[in-house]
Amino acid sequence: MRIHRHLWPPPGKEPGAIAAGLSYHGGVTFLQPKDGIVDRSGLPASGFIDPRGDNRAEIEALLEGAISSLLDFACRAAEYPPQPLAEEENAATPIAVRGTEEVGKSLPEEGGFAAELLARVEELTRNSMNVAHPRYMGHMDTVASTISMVGDLIASALNNNMLSLEMSPAFSRLEDHLLHQIALRFGLGAAAGGVMASGGTLANLQALTVARNQAFDCFDEGVVGADERPVILASEDAHVSLLKSAMLLGLGTKGLVPVRVDRHGRMEVEDLWRQIQLSRERGERPFCVVGVAGTTITGSIDPLEAIAAVAREEGLWFHVDAAFGGAAIFSNTHKHRLRGIDQADSITFNPQKWLYVAKTCAMVLFRRASILQDHYRLQAPYMREVEDFTNLGEISIQGTRRPDVLKLWLTISHFGRRGLEQLIDQSMELARSFAQRVDQRPWLRRISPTDVSIVCFEVVGDETSPEQWDTFSSRLQSHLMESGAAFFSLPRYHGRRVLKAVLLNPFTEESDLDEAFEAIDRFAAREGWSA
Ligand SMILES: *Cc1c(COP(=O)(O)O)cnc(C)c1O
Repeated sequence: MRIHRHLWPPPGKEPGAIAAGLSYHGGVTFLQPKDGIVDRSGLPASGFIDPRGDNRAEIEALLEGAISSLLDFACRAAEYPPQPLAEEENAATPIAVRGTEEVGKSLPEEGGFAAELLARVEELTRNSMNVAHPRYMGHMDTVASTISMVGDLIASALNNNMLSLEMSPAFSRLEDHLLHQIALRFGLGAAAGGVMASGGTLANLQALTVARNQAFDCFDEGVVGADERPVILASEDAHVSLLKSAMLLGLGTKGLVPVRVDRHGRMEVEDLWRQIQLSRERGERPFCVVGVAGTTITGSIDPLEAIAAVAREEGLWFHVDAAFGGAAIFSNTHKHRLRGIDQADSITFNPQKWLYVAKTCAMVLFRRASILQDHYRLQAPYMREVEDFTNLGEISIQGTRRPDVLKLWLTISHFGRRGLEQLIDQSMELARSFAQRVDQRPWLRRISPTDVSIVCFEVVGDETSPEQWDTFSSRLQSHLMESGAAFFSLPRYHGRRVLKAVLLNPFTEESDLDEAFEAIDRFAAREGWSA
């Protein structure tokens, strides 16, 4: 266990007394107001920041201790494996819990030392998904921009509430302004705006709720007992949150009609036409079509322009789930991939993915922001009304909400569009290089079109059955993870096991791809796939 100089042993305290487990809390003094009437002797000295500054030294010691412990890990994250590993070989579960089995299994009667807690946090850290590793490529999860960590810390310190303007005067207006700007960048026009949400799932749910409320004018009466079943159409590769939304909206999971994808994982517009007709023949009423910009497994972008045309002709709401791919709008080189997104009625976008903002950070944007007033807004008696601004709590799903906008605005302002563009362009370059390496190996087959920085592939063999390919792909994935060579995830795609690499890490180099593919080649030779 590494002990922090600032915090251990606490000045003026006998190490012996500490070892004896006395209930000292890790600071110079207890938090005790000057007048001495209120008893706070049970609290640690650094328990809260004294608004008159009396415990500033203790607070600084705690924060410095925490930051130095964090940096001890973060500045050496490349030396730790991309995924924590079990100690024993061939452990049943490769996701380690070394030394942390007991954490959280009791509720302590007495408080403990901050230094000791930080040491426990170090154990948890070592058992955490290590997205900072340059060969961590498993999921749409990335390192967070440094400034977004700062934003989160400040947001926690101020502890405002996005529920109402009164409870977050600066941040409410910041969210309103910034989301309007982002909506403009997507081409949604001057009347556009949106609200933030804790993740893309909530953003999708809200977009589909507004779409339903408008289509059925059912704000008060709901859709229970409606003559025609309301249905949403989306590609069979769309994110599960759409299914969840259909279920939550009272449409049932059958209220989401799947549309076929082509061999690139993009929606087949011919099938969209057909599914709309079939749905109507079943007596249903399609009211919304979702286009995905960056599907969760293959990273495919649906033909948004063509889908927009169908939506217009058929009178459907057009939602674009751009949770991942939306970031491409910041790149002049790659924004063309989103062509048609400017015709959306609503967009989901997660800056917590390809825009490198710390989780959670997501939003739903609407072409006509006023639609939230007409088909969504609910006022609460505890929210003070103001003339020129709608409390964000009245137009979002969540009530109390963190000002995630702070770290978003900080990141966009710190990097600028050019910085973000470079991040996106570089990850596309790496994805292209990765895809080439897959294409060069006849015993690997690429499944994704590389519309965004995601490459999916599988192991194939001439004289073996697809069931065996599944086993090959799984074995390769485990081998790379357990040897620490690289971490790819292993999603199921159309019934098959595939490997998925998401190229996001700003510290991934060509040499990391060399290293990963050397490990892949060695394993393939050993298994006789490449012979
Ligand atoms: C990640 C993702 C979501 C869900 O976002 P969460 O933040 O995980 O709730 C929805 N749709 C797509 C396409 C995604 O990639």
